[in-house]
Amino acid sequence: MAKTLFEKIIDREIAGTIVYEDEQCVAFKDINPGAPVHVLLVPRKPIPTLAAATAEDKALLGHLMLTAPKVAAQLGCGDAFRVVVNNGAGAGQSVFHLHLHILGGRAFKWPPG
Ligand code: AMP
Repeated sequence: MAKTLFEKIIDREIAGTIVYEDEQCVAFKDINPGAPVHVLLVPRKPIPTLAAATAEDKALLGHLMLTAPKVAAQLGCGDAFRVVVNNGAGAGQSVFHLHLHILGGRAFKWPPG
């Protein structure tokens, strides 16, 4: 299987600004930020979409959700930040390696576009 773009960033084969990593996931700055803080929290395991995750991934998904606030805090988001997962092209997913967008540093409106 060819590596995903995000696997190549994780493996330092292409440039990325990594701000956090542990044994299960890596966070790096989004190349086209939508907020003053915009990082992508990516599991090392290349699950293509949230919908493709299985019961086997339960602990990993929990780890991502518990790690997102820690990364947001590390980046100075305070208590206001947004976590987004786009599932499928129709929802705006463009990289098919599961990732959580963590956005902060400005006010957000609801619903998103
Ligand atoms: P999504 O559209 O939800 O799949 O999110 C993919 C995100 O990856 C977008 O916000 C892009 O700006 C971001 N992105 C694409 N290429 C890179 C890259 N080389 N380094 C960092 N972020 C990237």
